[in-house]
Amino acid sequence: MNFKNILINTAPTTHDLVLIGGGHAQISVLKKFGMKPIPGLKISLINKNLTSSYSGMLPGYIAGTYNEEDTQINLLNLCKFANARLIVDEVTGLDIFAKEIHLKNRVPVCYDTLSINTGGEPDIKKIKGAEKYSIPIKPISNLIENFHKIKKELKKIDNVSMTIIGGGAGGVEIALSLKKFLDLENKKEKNITLVSRTDNLIKNSPNSVHKNVMSLLYKNNINVVLSDEVVEFKKNTLITKNGKRINSQFNFLVTSISAPKWLSDTKLEITENGFLKVNQYLQSSNKNIFSAGDVCSVKNFNLSKAGVYAVRQGPILYKNIRSKILKSQLVSYKPQKFFLSLIGDGQNEAVATWGPLSFRSKWAWKLKRYIDEKFIRTYNDLKFMKMESFKPHPNLISKNNLTDPALAEIKCLGCGAKTQWQSLNQGIISAKERRKLGKNDQTLKNININSDVSLIKVPNGKDIVQSVDLISSIVNDPYTLSRIAALHSMSDVLTSGAKPVSAEAIFILPSGLKDIQTRLISELISGCSYEFLRHKIHLNGGHTSEGQELQVGFCINGIRSKNFNFIKPKVGDKLILTKPIGVGIILAAHMRGVASPLDYEEALNSMLTSNHFASKVFLQNNITSITDVTGFGLARHTLNLTKPFGAKINIKDTPKINGANKYLNNGIYSSLAKSNKEEINFNKNIKNENSIIFDPQTSGGLLAAVDRKKSKKVISELKENNCYAAIIGEVIEKEEFELN
Ligand SMILES: Cc1cc2nc3c(=O)[nH]c(=O)nc-3n(C[C@H](O)[C@H](O)[C@H](O)COP(=O)(O)OP(=O)(O)OC[C@H]3O[C@@H](n4cnc5c(N)ncnc54)[C@H](O)[C@@H]3O)c2cc1C
Repeated sequence: MNFKNILINTAPTTHDLVLIGGGHAQISVLKKFGMKPIPGLKISLINKNLTSSYSGMLPGYIAGTYNEEDTQINLLNLCKFANARLIVDEVTGLDIFAKEIHLKNRVPVCYDTLSINTGGEPDIKKIKGAEKYSIPIKPISNLIENFHKIKKELKKIDNVSMTIIGGGAGGVEIALSLKKFLDLENKKEKNITLVSRTDNLIKNSPNSVHKNVMSLLYKNNINVVLSDEVVEFKKNTLITKNGKRINSQFNFLVTSISAPKWLSDTKLEITENGFLKVNQYLQSSNKNIFSAGDVCSVKNFNLSKAGVYAVRQGPILYKNIRSKILKSQLVSYKPQKFFLSLIGDGQNEAVATWGPLSFRSKWAWKLKRYIDEKFIRTYNDLKFMKMESFKPHPNLISKNNLTDPALAEIKCLGCGAKTQWQSLNQGIISAKERRKLGKNDQTLKNININSDVSLIKVPNGKDIVQSVDLISSIVNDPYTLSRIAALHSMSDVLTSGAKPVSAEAIFILPSGLKDIQTRLISELISGCSYEFLRHKIHLNGGHTSEGQELQVGFCINGIRSKNFNFIKPKVGDKLILTKPIGVGIILAAHMRGVASPLDYEEALNSMLTSNHFASKVFLQNNITSITDVTGFGLARHTLNLTKPFGAKINIKDTPKINGANKYLNNGIYSSLAKSNKEEINFNKNIKNENSIIFDPQTSGGLLAAVDRKKSKKVISELKENNCYAAIIGEVIEKEEFELN
C-alpha cells in the first residue's frame, strides 16, 4: 500500500451522512467520497464487523484457493481512506422522525442523510428444524466461523454426508466447493446432495446453463434432487416435500434471502416480502433515505438478488447521495440487461454465461479469479491522499446556520473556544434520553453544567486520590473513544488502591455546527457513562473546548483509607501483567493503513477491558505494588514499579497482541517507542520484535509485584475473574532492566 498522508479535514462539520451496511454498493460510495470529499460532511459507516465478506470468493475459500483474509473487504482501512468513522454494531431499528438509528449494543446514532445496504438474511424459521440442524450461508462471517468448527468435527467422521438446499448460483457453487474441500480433507467416503425446488437449476436462465451446471455437478459426483424441497430438518436426516429422506450430517441453507425484520417497523414503504421500496434514484419513500443492493427493490424492475446489481448501483448511489446533500440534480439508475455470470467450483472450472450463451471451461474459472481479485484490490489497495479544507461546502450551509459560531471567519480561542452552551446542554439531555432507549435502562445522574465546581464529600477516615488523563483520537468513533478514555483515566486511581467515585470530563471537539456538536457531545457522554455507570462512578461535570482533533480526557477522583499501607516490592517477587502489550504498534500500523482488522479488533478489545477486576484481586490479596502499563511502555513502567530494585523480564512469557511482532519486523512502531527506549538507557542490541517492551500502551494492563509464594494463587484468581494474566518476570537486586 502506498501510504502518503493522513486525511486532514478542518472544515466545521455541518452534515451527518450515515451508511448502514458495508455492502457492495456502499464500499464504492466510501471510496468515491474518499477521492472527492465534501468539506464539512461527516460520514459514518455502521457495519456488523470490521470487514465485509465478498461472497464471490466464498467458494474459493471453501475449496482452499483463498484464505479468509483474501475474501474480506477491509472496512477499517476504507473508512480511514474516506475519513469516515466506523461503528461496529448491528442496526436493530430506525426512527425516521427523530432521524435516529437504533443499535444492538449502544445508544442510537443520528443522521441527516441515510443510506442502507445491508443485504438480506436467511429465514431459518421458515423450515421446521432449520434453526437447529442447518448452517445458513449468510451472514458469511458466521459461516466462516462455522467452517472452522466443521473442520474439527470432520476429523472424527469417516463417512461424510452433506446437503445443500437451494439450486441457485450460490447453492451450486457451495456444492462444488464443498466437494473440493472434502477432497482436500482426504475424505474418501463422501456423499454430497443438492436439492432444488425448481426443475431447472439457476432459475430464469437459459436451458444451456442448466445443462452445463448439471454436467459439472455430475463430474464432481454430486447428487441432484430437482423439483423437490426440504420441509423438515432432523438430526442427520432431511425430509422433502415428495417424501424423500436424505441422510445428511451437515446441511447448508442457500435458499433465497429474506428482508431484515427491523425494516418493517420503520414506516418506510416496503414490498410484500419486506424489502425496502426505492425509486429510480435509489431513494426510499423518505427522501433523506437511500438504499441499494439485496435489501431493496427498485421500482419497475424485478431484479434477482445478486451482487452484480449492487456493484452497478454503487456509483449511482454515490452520485445521488452527493447531489441530495449538495442540493443538485439526481440521476436515474438503469440495471444492466445482461451480466456475465461465472459459476465456479472454487478451484479450476466454471460455467460462464452471457445472455443466451453459456459454456463450461477452465478458462472461465481463470476469468472469474481475475475479476474477483481485481474487485477486492479496488477496495483493499488504497492510495491515501491529503485533503485540506477550512470551510464547509457552501451548499451544506442553510440560512439558519449563517450566524453559527462554527462558521465565523476568525475564531476566538481561550474560553471563546468553548462549545456553545446549547450544544452542551442538549448533548447531555439527549445522552440521557438515548440511554433510556438502550437495553441498559439505568439513567444518567444529573450533570450540572450551570455550576463550575463539584463537591466531593470525603467520608471520615478516608483520603481523596486524584488523577487526570487525556487521549487523542486513536479510534475514529467518539462513543468508543470516550469509553477507552474513561477506562484509561480510571487506571491510575485503581493502582493507587483507591475506589474511583467521581469524574470530570475534558472534551476537545473539532469545530462543527450546533446540532452536529450536540450529537457529538451526546455520543461522548453516552460512551463514558457506559463505563462510569458500570463502575459506579458519578460524572460531575467538565469542560469543553474546540481544537483541531477530537480529544477526550477525565479527571478521576477516588477515595482510599487514610491508613492505606503500601507494601514495597522485594527481590524475588514475581511480576504479573494483566493485558497483552502491543497496542501502540497496532495503532501505528492502522495509521499507515496496513493493520489487519483482526489484529486491530484485538487491540480495541484490550483497550476496552477494564482494570477494575484485576485491581480488586490484587487488593484482596494485599498486593499494593501495582502500576498500569501506559505511555512509557512496559520497560519504563516496570522499572518505576520495582525501584530501588530492577527487573528481569522473560519476553517469551510476556503476552502480546497478535500481529505486533509482524509489524515491528516490518519497521512499524509508535513514534514514542524510540524515546521510551532512550529513557531507560537500554544499550544492548535487541531483536526488532523484542522492542515491543518500549511500545506505549493506551488503556494498558496492570503490572504488579507479587510475593513468589502467592503468585500462582493470584494468577488463578485473576483468571477466574476473566482477567488475562501472566507471570512475565521477577524483581532483581540490581536497578536495571534485564531481558531474557
Ligand atoms: C455462495 C454465494 C456466492 C455468490 N456469488 C455471487 C456472484 O458471483 N455474483 C453475484 O452477483 N452474486 C453472488 N451471490 C449473491 C450475493 O452474495 C448477494 O447478492 C450480495 O452479497 C448482495 O450484496 P449487498 O451489497 O446487497 O449486501 P452484502 O454483500 O450482504 O453486504 C451487507 C453488509 O451489511 C452488513 N449488515 C447486515 N445487516 C446489518 C445490520 N443490521 N447492521 C449493520 N450491518 C449490517 C453485513 O455485515 C455486510 O457487511 C452469491 C451468494 C452466495 C451465497
